[in-house]
Amino acid sequence: MTERTKQNRTIAGGMGSILSSARQLWRHRVGDVKCLLRANQPGGFDCPGCAWPESRQATHLEFCENGIKAIAHEATHRRIDREFFARHPLSRLREQSHYWLEQQGRLSEPLYRNRHSDHYEPIGWEETFSLIGSHLRGLDHPDEAVLYTSGRTSNEAAFLFQLFGRLLGTNNLPDSANLCHESSGVALTEAIGTGKGTVTLEDFELADAIFVFGQNPGSNHPRMLTELEKASKRGCRIVSVNPLKEAGLIGFIDPRHLGATLLRRPTPISSLYLQPLVGGDLALIKGMMKVLLEREAQQVGRVLDHDFIDNHTQGFAACVRDLENTTWSQIESGSGLNRAQITQAAEIYLNAERVIACWAMGLTQQKHAVATIQTLTNWMLLGGNLGKPGAGLCPVRGHSNVQGDRTMGITVQPNPTFLEALGREFRFRSPQRPGYDTVSSIKAMAEGKVKVLICMGGNLAAAAPDRSYTEDALSRLQLTVQVSTKLNRSHLICGKEALILPCLGRTELDLQATGPQQVTVEDSMSMVHTSRGHRRPASPHLRSEPAIIAGMAKAVLGEEGPDWDELVADYDRIRTKIAAVIPVFRDYNRKIRQAGGFYLGNSARERRWQTPTGKAHFLVHPLPHPQSAPDQLRLMTMRSHDQYNTTIYGLNDRYRGIEGRRLVVFLHPEDMHTRGLEAGARVDLISAAEDGVPRRATGFEVVPYDIPKGCAGAYFPETNVLVPIDSYADRSITPTGKLIPIRLRPAG
Ligand code: SF4
Repeated sequence: MTERTKQNRTIAGGMGSILSSARQLWRHRVGDVKCLLRANQPGGFDCPGCAWPESRQATHLEFCENGIKAIAHEATHRRIDREFFARHPLSRLREQSHYWLEQQGRLSEPLYRNRHSDHYEPIGWEETFSLIGSHLRGLDHPDEAVLYTSGRTSNEAAFLFQLFGRLLGTNNLPDSANLCHESSGVALTEAIGTGKGTVTLEDFELADAIFVFGQNPGSNHPRMLTELEKASKRGCRIVSVNPLKEAGLIGFIDPRHLGATLLRRPTPISSLYLQPLVGGDLALIKGMMKVLLEREAQQVGRVLDHDFIDNHTQGFAACVRDLENTTWSQIESGSGLNRAQITQAAEIYLNAERVIACWAMGLTQQKHAVATIQTLTNWMLLGGNLGKPGAGLCPVRGHSNVQGDRTMGITVQPNPTFLEALGREFRFRSPQRPGYDTVSSIKAMAEGKVKVLICMGGNLAAAAPDRSYTEDALSRLQLTVQVSTKLNRSHLICGKEALILPCLGRTELDLQATGPQQVTVEDSMSMVHTSRGHRRPASPHLRSEPAIIAGMAKAVLGEEGPDWDELVADYDRIRTKIAAVIPVFRDYNRKIRQAGGFYLGNSARERRWQTPTGKAHFLVHPLPHPQSAPDQLRLMTMRSHDQYNTTIYGLNDRYRGIEGRRLVVFLHPEDMHTRGLEAGARVDLISAAEDGVPRRATGFEVVPYDIPKGCAGAYFPETNVLVPIDSYADRSITPTGKLIPIRLRPAG
């Protein structure tokens, strides 16, 4: 173990969280305690971090360490202006790390780079819009434009953005969900008729068992640990399924509880912790189902929920046949777990009346992600664990409004009813052709089919797979437009002309013609609520996302479409339009003014199955057989604790014992031994992709870790270079950030 690598932890939260949060606030000179107290509060702003919902019994401290990092970096005193770009040519900035770029502070004025310059220079807003207008009007076809949305974008901005795209004539509206939970949406829509999770926070209070697959809430959704802690304390059994041992799934001290923090008294979280092979989840779930069938054979009619299966599902017989034909040796070798371990997990399921299954990127970014999530749904259907209190499916979304953006119509395959309503309300014919998703957009850019890219937030250059391919594709564009709060790599890997349009952050006052405005967001459990910023904006030159979209739309569309100025003057008017197009938002402006917002509902939660057959479907998939040579490892990419998506707040990964660096690869000690590697050795990771293109991530330090033999873990976005553009989940086209076959070589 090297000097800077400490023992990985078994407790999340506690004093470590308090100290780390204080350091972030101090570093960014954020002393505005009032601002923190407004996070996730009625009348306050929605944390720009993750999409975990607010508790009904909200306290004054409804934020976590990650939330503080996001707020501190938004409220930072550091600014990026024209002098910064005069000092730093793009060619130099491209050599900087994601972390360094993030530390430079808030973008404070619109910036332009022309095709002959290595520098961004200031530009006025009106000039900005007319430049965008002339590029978009000059396209041969509307599909030569792509409008990308990140999951931070509010409902109001997302609705206007998709309207702008469709008035332009394209459905090229990819989003960050294409890179994360698309697999969940595809899988669930086919199986149960809705692409969203079926549970609410109240269900967590009633569940007898909670299974957490491929998720690390301690770093990625920290307030979920509060719910798991409460559940654990009242005797709910929690089963964690993750190749890596993660501190947050072992023990937790809520830092808001001073006594427990000072006395260092953690609550144990997991009753059982299973560490399957990377990509072994589908086999594990089949194993658990097989145990259920075996028990059902012994206690006929007392294990499975036959009433539910008979009345609400289709395909049960095929599911049973498949399980009978799947052998235990296939299950054990596919999952990397033995029959006894799988039986233990299955027993927790069958002894529970109400089960919740949660999952995140560990499931969604595998090649067979859709099959895995549908198998997981089969398992839940066997016990009737859908549509009853305390039970259901819970895909835990990442960015704070990623689910809401999709509800607002940010999708490349809009449903015809939505398009018709949109066309009726705004008196135009919406384009019907499906648009490019994120992967296809990048490929279309590489082939010269796309000329203009407009990004509403995000960091596409860093988030996308196959770094060299993606960066080459982006640099072929005629114009790239980034609407952002802070500097990131996507501002540096730009088209021949490039614009940076700085926008307001969530914590900031959004003042429009009729007064201060609030926006709305939808959390991971379909609750819609308001977000209102109060802080003085980082610069007087910032505009809100709706105002920027309106500026672009007017410059391109002229008189076509709505009165954009009128909509932006008062966001209630945008919400009135949303309500006219999306029926579930009827009475939107009244409903968001009620305490806590409102619930959008979920048909599967009510046991209404909006599938072609009107039933929930058992969908059967064979076990995958990932091929790997004996010297290959299955790499999973993941975030560090000081990171949110592609935003790198710091260089520590406290719970995994890493300090001051990111280029590390976690390996099982035996895998190190067979390769003659000591802790601290330097290696390059070589992707063993079938397309034969050499892909190499260089200079990683070996760290021994509690991870299954044959597997490896390392941080993204640094390892995205190893994922080929054509390596994605079947049908959802989500890039395979998990189960990347790699070899290790001494660092070159
Ligand atoms: S759990 Fe998510 S939404 Fe809540 S404070 Fe933390 S990062 Fe923000």
